[in-house]
This record gives sequence, structure tokens and C-alpha cells, in this order.
Amino acid sequence: MERIKKGDTVEIIAGKDAAAARREGRTVRGTVNRVIHGSKVDRAYRKVGRDPNKDRVVVQGVNLIIKHQRRTGDVRTQFGRIEMEAPLHISNVMLVCPSCKEATRVGFRTLEDGTKSRYCKRCDELID
Ligand SMILES: [Zn+2]
Repeated sequence: MERIKKGDTVEIIAGKDAAAARREGRTVRGTVNRVIHGSKVDRAYRKVGRDPNKDRVVVQGVNLIIKHQRRTGDVRTQFGRIEMEAPLHISNVMLVCPSCKEATRVGFRTLEDGTKSRYCKRCDELID
């Protein structure tokens, strides 16, 4: 079970976008487009499990970079200077609770039917 899922709204709490926003007295929020699970690799770079220390998220409109993509043989591939979101570490974002609209820590609770659910540690409301 993951704390942050695709489609969640998150607040950026560290990194260049958060720092710039703090200087102007605002916060940065965005929707999670992708969650990347860090994988543990052995010495031959074979995947041997998950590494939560490498878990990252791609957030819509946040951590923008300009990727200089070389032209490839495939005409369908975009090339040139492409502006795109770079992944940021999962610890640098906080979930925005859908009920209280605050950036919050996430807890887990087992429901009566045995399924696990996330809850907001601020307002105690179940998230999904
Ligand atoms: Zn809440």
C-alpha cells in the first residue's frame, strides 16, 4: 500500500519549486501523474526488489526541466528542447487531504471487511 498514488493532489515541501514559492509566500500543489517505485539492484544491475529510498513521483507542472532530445530514426519521437516534469523524491511532497484540503501525513487503517485504507492524520477522515 502506498502513501501517494497517481491522481492524488500533493503539496511540494522541498526543492527549488517549494523554495521559490516560499519566497513569494505561497505553496505549490499539483496532481501526481506517475509514481516510480525505486528498485534495488545487485552488482550486475539486475532488479532484486524494491528500494523505498528511491521512490519518486512526477507531479504535473512541477520540477520542470528542458530535455535536449536528440533526433532519432523514429519520426514519431519528439526531439529538440522538450519541457517536461522531472521526478522528485516522494519525501519532498505531502498528500493534500481531499476532505480538509490541508497537506497532511498519511496513516493506514484496516476496515471491517479486511481491506486497508489510507486516512488523514489531521482530520482522521478516510481518503480511499
Ligand atoms: Zn484531512
